[in-house]
Amino acid sequence: MLATNTMSPLTQKLLDREELYSAHNYHPLPVMLTRGEGVFVWDIEGKRYYDFLSGYSAVNQGHCHPKIIASFIEQAQKLTLTSRAFHSDLLGEYAEFITKYFGYDKVLPMNTGVEAVETALKLARRWGYQVKGVESNKAKIIVCAENFHGRTLNVISFSTDPSAKNNFGPFMPGYEVIPYNDINALQLALQDKNVAGFLVEPIQGEAGVVVPDEGYLSKAAALCKEANVLFIADEIQTGLARTGKMLACDHENVHPDILILGKALSGGTMPVSAVLADDEIMLTIKPGEHGSTYGGNPLACKVAITALQVLKDEQMAENAEVLGAHLREQLVALNHPRISLVRGKGLLNAIVIDHPDKDAAWELCLQMKDNGLLVKPTHGDKIRFAPPLVITKAQIDECLDIISRSLQHLA
Ligand code: PLP
Repeated sequence: MLATNTMSPLTQKLLDREELYSAHNYHPLPVMLTRGEGVFVWDIEGKRYYDFLSGYSAVNQGHCHPKIIASFIEQAQKLTLTSRAFHSDLLGEYAEFITKYFGYDKVLPMNTGVEAVETALKLARRWGYQVKGVESNKAKIIVCAENFHGRTLNVISFSTDPSAKNNFGPFMPGYEVIPYNDINALQLALQDKNVAGFLVEPIQGEAGVVVPDEGYLSKAAALCKEANVLFIADEIQTGLARTGKMLACDHENVHPDILILGKALSGGTMPVSAVLADDEIMLTIKPGEHGSTYGGNPLACKVAITALQVLKDEQMAENAEVLGAHLREQLVALNHPRISLVRGKGLLNAIVIDHPDKDAAWELCLQMKDNGLLVKPTHGDKIRFAPPLVITKAQIDECLDIISRSLQHLA
């Protein structure tokens, strides 16, 4: 396979500078982007690409959505940060908006996704001790193998991915890892009276868009309720219309006890995350016991209201549902011998590449880049297809043509 990996001298120079001065904690595709609009991004040479990653689902609303950017600019010129030492007139407005939007008593605003995960875990432990009556310092959270919830030391403590953990120990105790999509394992783990919560991704995005069996989430939520354990959904990647519903849990009519959101909550403009729960859980944290300087800042509040509003106004969940089904159907119809699996929900999809060359998926991504479509492999052999949700059917069909042409190079 011969993907051209040639770069202009300017692109090469900028890549070299980044390599020299920026930590090597990522391995990006060799493309240097400078502009984005809707489903498209442009590199510094002016070449246009379809963005089929959407910032790992942070730009569900499309790059630089005009209404989100207008809100951003308007608020940026007025007030950006007060800290929580003082009130801003936007926190209450945002809190009322988002809690009514998702049906919870309260929201706790944070910034990055992993901070929201940490917040949810702290809340679950607190609730465990103060409401459920878990033994002091014995609280346990059940998590799933192959999870991805972020990169802090606590969160990697329960990762099963060696590359996330190696030489970062010692790790935080208090977690039990069970297989994903295994109701019996959950039932067994729930027998421990000290379990406070079950943390789960409704679809495992980073693991390669692993969709659990139908009924798994609703059964898991019911078992948690029976055992008086909090069902905690990490919808940072699956939420906000990505999978064809506002939340992936909505596919099974599950209302999580704790809901974690991030990424597209700001439409890709800044880190904005949130934890939603009812008072019995949320009010276990008192002033001074948890927080963040930027959490709930007025700029984030304003942007998040607009980012949520446009998802509904522009019916992005509906678009994701219809076009996702079309995309998967057409990917299957390609009937390519090297695609061993097509899976996903809405516009969160992945193909699995079956090839003796372990770099085949990477090479295919380079080929697609050459042909004007940006994606990246995850875990070596899986390629996620997750375009912004403003994509049209005609654009999806053009992308399918790019994918098909690129696959021709995969022997
Ligand atoms: N949880 C899930 C399901 C994610 O997909 C991610 C990021 O990819 C995170 C948590 C962490 O979010 P962040 O990178 O904003 O900390």
